[in-house]
Amino acid sequence: MIVMIHFCAIKLESGKRNNNTLHYMLEQLKTGILGGGQLGAMLLRSAIDFGLNVSVMDKDPNAPCSRHTSSFKIGDPMNYDDVVKFGSNLDIITIEKEAVNTKALKHLQANGVKVYPSPETIEIIQNKYDQKQFLIKNELPVAAGILVNGREEIMKHLDRLPACLKKCSHGYDGKGVMVLRTPEDIANAFDEPCVLEELVDIKHEISVIVSRNESGAIECYDPVLMTFNKGRMILDFQMCPANIDVDIAMQTSNLAIKTAEALELVGIMAVEMFVDSHGNVVVNELAPRPHNSGHHTIEANTTSQFEQQIRIILGLPLGSAKLNKASVMINILEPVALRKNNQTDAINNILCTDDAHLHWYGKHSGTEGRKMGHVTIVGSTIENALSKAVIIRHLLKGAYEEK
Ligand code: ADP
Repeated sequence: MIVMIHFCAIKLESGKRNNNTLHYMLEQLKTGILGGGQLGAMLLRSAIDFGLNVSVMDKDPNAPCSRHTSSFKIGDPMNYDDVVKFGSNLDIITIEKEAVNTKALKHLQANGVKVYPSPETIEIIQNKYDQKQFLIKNELPVAAGILVNGREEIMKHLDRLPACLKKCSHGYDGKGVMVLRTPEDIANAFDEPCVLEELVDIKHEISVIVSRNESGAIECYDPVLMTFNKGRMILDFQMCPANIDVDIAMQTSNLAIKTAEALELVGIMAVEMFVDSHGNVVVNELAPRPHNSGHHTIEANTTSQFEQQIRIILGLPLGSAKLNKASVMINILEPVALRKNNQTDAINNILCTDDAHLHWYGKHSGTEGRKMGHVTIVGSTIENALSKAVIIRHLLKGAYEEK
């Protein structure tokens, strides 16, 4: 079989060696990741499998990636000069978070650096109101919402309560989301540009990881059922395959594909959706990068979301998104308190559970609810994975249980 490798127009100097080998091309490529968190660290692991030389930039000198690459640069991904300086020696740049300076990325792109996903895609996603407008324009279903510029403006829309208030920018892990039930709640509402969104009577929260390459080929992963801790609005655990009706599974996958096509995405993206009690599906949020809801793909799928992203940015063929095993993924949140008095015992119990995979991010302890690690439990069926996950879930006593 002849495989056409369409490398993304990277200029490689002709030299003493046979430059046409895959080995030589990958070795010479200078790739970079903006953001050095756990998603970046998992991307790095896949990059290593391809023999890549990867630089990472993060403003935290102790970010997880700092220990995994000798080319770790300290700089702020939101700062124009830092991003330009970091990217100007690179061939390819990608992201592990959306909070990056898109003006700088556009400058780099104009100067020949390949940027994935495109700065335009990142820009749409950076603002929740723009994101919603984009989805509406492309006839993708969303929960109705309006732009409000602060508390005073919310007061003019009391008829919309109860509602969900979401900061337009820089919200993550539920930190920029609150529910306003009564006019009294407005006194504590975010006083900045927000989306005031109808409260959805959520039956299921689903995420679909979708990948699309430069030529428009798509590989879509199976829908994942996410369970959120309501107090903290943060992902608690997730299951794949999702225990949902076939038509909902089809609808959510189709919506993810349509969204990737509308964005002309090149890369990997999580499309988070709500299914309401009447079976209606709306798109809640897009994340055009590897995502928490795709962690299970490392152990459960033929190609992990991280490997897929690396394949795409290199212009290599897409890998199969086939699900080979059922999985349950549990986030380990700060403060990491374990039910057993002896933490080593608890860790040993996790590690001794058949098919349980511990991922420890090596982060310094931080604010309550910070993601410190995760465990993925695989099984032949979802019931089989769940039976083991229940025990592990019991051993992990996260901050969310204190609420
Ligand atoms: P973040 O960007 O912080 O992850 P999300 O938009 O995903 O914010 O919201 C976090 C959580 O808040 C969701 O997973 C969901 O449980 C809840 N939520 C968000 N929007 C709504 C809504 N319109 N109605 C009801 N619950 C919502």
